[in-house]
Amino acid sequence: MATGAGLVALTIACWVAEAAGWLAAGSTDRLSQPSAKLGVVLLAAGLALRLVSPVRRRLQSGRCVRCGSAVLPGHLYCSVHLQDNVNTWRDETREQASSRLGRRG
Ligand SMILES: [Zn+2]
Repeated sequence: MATGAGLVALTIACWVAEAAGWLAAGSTDRLSQPSAKLGVVLLAAGLALRLVSPVRRRLQSGRCVRCGSAVLPGHLYCSVHLQDNVNTWRDETREQASSRLGRRG
């Protein structure tokens, strides 16, 4: 998360600037505290995302969610289960359509 690191850097820069006397003493007190907290929160979020990303990558690429066999990156199902899913979806759609139209006999 570049935003979190940037905010922390900005906060540190404010502290340094204040310490160097570039800004009036106390002017950064209101700014530095919330932005430091926000920076820490964003860094933590970034770290959490980094921890989650391998799991997400495993979900997104390589494995069929039904049987776990190898699939193309970005695909959820293998060819068997993709076809199975399409059939199920088609049957459900057909049932919905026919019931909406009011099937006779
Ligand atoms: Zn499968």
